[in-house]
Amino acid sequence: MKFSASFLILLLASVCLTQAINLRPSSITDASAIPHTHISGGGILGRRPAAPAVMDTSGIEQGGQQGGLLTPAKLTRPQEWLDSVDVIIFDCDGVIWRGDSVIPGVPETLERLRALGKKVFFVTNNSTKSRKGYKKKFDSLGLDVKPEEIFSSSFAAAAYLEQKKFKETGKKVYVIGEVGIEEELDLIGVPWVGGTKDAGKVVELKPGYAMPVDEDVGAVVVGFDRHFNYHKIQYAQLCIAELGAEFIATNLDAVTHLTDAQEWAGNGSMVGAIKGCTKREPTVVGKPSALMIDYLAEKLGVPRQRMAMVGDRLDTDILFGQRNGLKSLLTLSGVTTLDKVNSPQNSIRPEHYVDSIADFFPQSTA
Ligand SMILES: [Mg+2]
Repeated sequence: MKFSASFLILLLASVCLTQAINLRPSSITDASAIPHTHISGGGILGRRPAAPAVMDTSGIEQGGQQGGLLTPAKLTRPQEWLDSVDVIIFDCDGVIWRGDSVIPGVPETLERLRALGKKVFFVTNNSTKSRKGYKKKFDSLGLDVKPEEIFSSSFAAAAYLEQKKFKETGKKVYVIGEVGIEEELDLIGVPWVGGTKDAGKVVELKPGYAMPVDEDVGAVVVGFDRHFNYHKIQYAQLCIAELGAEFIATNLDAVTHLTDAQEWAGNGSMVGAIKGCTKREPTVVGKPSALMIDYLAEKLGVPRQRMAMVGDRLDTDILFGQRNGLKSLLTLSGVTTLDKVNSPQNSIRPEHYVDSIADFFPQSTA
């Protein structure tokens, strides 16, 4: 896999800055409690201003104010909003699909956006698939998407390691996560241990027992793992605390959308377990880390104010857009309700919301 030099430079700079900013534990579990100064992104890095409370969206319905906080407005005139953007970055879970079902009207909506000349990208903090794996998922849902339009956190982890020239150290990665991380590491030729091979492992505690670890492990990547277990926690703890391995998190999402019936514990729970036993903070490579926005803005040469982030989560998607100077649009087709958005405890307010991105073209689902 090849990365452009500019992407790699931007990626390293973004992640180094992320490391320099101490992400508080509360950011994992409580979106509304996130202090703006603790989240990585352009606004706090002195390069770009954070999004104002009310965006200049002339001709587009504005939200009101609620105790000094913006009350998001429903996007009632989508054509005007679409005219104001050239690039739209979509979150996937809860926006394009829920579980294994495409959200009604989405295929037609994406087709029409492309027909209008909009550039579309898909970003997901879900690391269980590689970009190749996501391409298959898009295909299976009847969505024609190119691999280079997909940015998964599994890819971001591999790109970060490649930028750091990790392969040249001769070290290995200990993987907590699923096949997506494994496939991306294989593509860049970085050896790994753990991952799916450690599913179901049980620690048998006996007097004098010490868990053996591979002393060549130089990094631990923690992604969402449905086979998370105590063996993996202890192995990661030894690698990080004893061997000095770098602690890398694909993302810190509190909950995820494994089924459409309820919220499920996300990678924040796996990362939290490793933080708990190592007292270390991870390098975060997925949203809301700024690296992908930096890459796209430079590659496409599009001003950030003509780029939009569309997502269903406040603490990753909306914050990700706002901290990078993008327009932000919330869709209620995923994990966030309007009541949660307008709760006095929530300070992350998008400018607009839609029930689904199919609302961009109301007649297409009528
Ligand atoms: Mg989502």
